Amino acid sequence: MHLSKTFIPTLRETPQDAEIASHRLMLRAGMIRRVSSGIFTFLPLGLRALRHVERIVREEMDRAGAIEVLMPGLQPRDIWEQSGRYDLMRDVMFRIHDRQGHDLALGPTHEEVITGLAAHEIHSYRQLPCTFYQVQTKYRDEIRPRFGLMRAREFVMKDAYSFDASWDAADGSYQAMYDAYERIFKRCGLHVKVVEADSGAMGGQWSHEFMVLADSGEDGLVDCNRCAYAANLEKAERAHTATPSKSGDSVCPSPENVATPGATTIEAVAALLDVAPHRLIKTLIYTADSRPVAVLTPGDREVNELKLARILGCRELAAADAPTVERVTGAPVGYAGPIGLSIPIHADLDLRGASDYVCGANQADTHTLHMDIDRDVTVTGFADLTNARDGDGCPHCDDGVLQGKRGIEVGHVFKLGTKYTEAFDARYLTAEGEEKPLVMGCYGIGVTRTLQAVIEQHHDANGICWPASVAPYKVVLLPLNPSHEATCETTERLSAELTAAGWEPLIDDRDERPGVKFKDADLIGYPVRVVISERSLAAGGVEVKARTADKPRTLPLADAILYIGEQLS
Ligand code: ATP
Ligand code: MG
Repeated sequence: MHLSKTFIPTLRETPQDAEIASHRLMLRAGMIRRVSSGIFTFLPLGLRALRHVERIVREEMDRAGAIEVLMPGLQPRDIWEQSGRYDLMRDVMFRIHDRQGHDLALGPTHEEVITGLAAHEIHSYRQLPCTFYQVQTKYRDEIRPRFGLMRAREFVMKDAYSFDASWDAADGSYQAMYDAYERIFKRCGLHVKVVEADSGAMGGQWSHEFMVLADSGEDGLVDCNRCAYAANLEKAERAHTATPSKSGDSVCPSPENVATPGATTIEAVAALLDVAPHRLIKTLIYTADSRPVAVLTPGDREVNELKLARILGCRELAAADAPTVERVTGAPVGYAGPIGLSIPIHADLDLRGASDYVCGANQADTHTLHMDIDRDVTVTGFADLTNARDGDGCPHCDDGVLQGKRGIEVGHVFKLGTKYTEAFDARYLTAEGEEKPLVMGCYGIGVTRTLQAVIEQHHDANGICWPASVAPYKVVLLPLNPSHEATCETTERLSAELTAAGWEPLIDDRDERPGVKFKDADLIGYPVRVVISERSLAAGGVEVKARTADKPRTLPLADAILYIGEQLS
């Protein structure tokens, strides 16, 4: 392929609105263009790279025995009502109406469509196990589309759905997808960390996320330095240290109110009273399905609302508004405390036995010293209600320490169980003639996000450094003077041989200065660059350089082809 025959509009300037390297590079290398917030056009180079990721995904799905289908983007409202998710997913769903006034949604995911299909088409144990997959466009009205393809409103996902005869058999399908995911990301050149994850709105039994470690990642995770435990912060547990409460056996003095004018934050109270933040109790008022509850954590910990919602068993959880806080505590926001509250009080496990702590006094400009949780507070229950963080003890091994990291979620596998199959009455007949619900799993890969994650993990100051497997072109040929006959001839010959070998060469035949061609080659990041010039020919061949090598080498044509082969395989 000749560069002049395709369309690769590279940019010199760094785009202003792109916050992370991979987004900037995709724009600068002429791979994508923004149409609107979270909506993009793929240009030829971006499309080629995307097709490579899709090909790897398909090959590994097929190898794992999954069967490709293609479901519609347009989905009728009634199937979302049937699963009970029409309201649950309302924030993320694009909803539209047809000319007859029927409600439709642009599919953010496809559990409803596929389970409907299974309900109609799978009748017998003989048809099981069965895993379907598709590579298809998803639509999600994200609160904050950003980072280019990372969090888009229209994006390509590979989603797969397994159907099995039993929970045990479903584990086999889950494992097959899990293994396929490891192969896919490895083939894309990505280092991923698999973490335990929350099942969220998907429901179901358990799930794992595949994370590309990157400082720009939107997800926090913890990773044990000793054992295999790693989890998304949304779900991560930690070893809870029971509070070293009183000094020795001394009895905690009686509660005593002190004036703390204007001190409404942990930091302010800690500074004013000269107490360490972890010796303060943070009292937060929430509404759980409209009922107020109080949550107690050590002052230096953050509440994990997913854990809290699960403990409370509520559908909707929100921080209470100021009027509610004032009503239940009798004090303005900033002075809530657990003593004397008449609403349910849930405390973090760290606060078991907490004695001689400081807490809000439920009075303006006042805090209470010497709070003893067992003596002074009616605790409804102790539970793990806070986020794990860097340096916490591992919950699964003895001396392990959790390390906090950031990651980009590129894949997510869920064991769903029968949540959807029961809702859609998707049943089959066992060999004994018994009717049972299908047991289901679902598995997603953000294909467009994966593509960009490859760049996030493989770039340097000059541009992208593609792994050969997903590079839009694997080799770029730079004839420095296209009008020089021998240069031209050698370029065409090399191109033909590389094409025959499957190495996808691109000839930069533009009438540009060498400096421009070199810069673009580094920016676009072809794994191998070959310079053909009068000088290289006089020196006995062509000048070959791997994108990540320090120096080029001049080799005769045949050796150059061998060398390129080595670099690319
Ligand atoms: P996130 O937590 O990042 O919002 P999710 O958990 O909602 O993602 P899933 O429903 O698990 O996403 O979707 C499967 C995969 O699709 C994700 O692992 C991710 O790689 C990709 N994905 C999800 N949302 C987006 C998006 N807005 N833009 C690009 N890819 C996305
Ligand atoms: Mg997910």
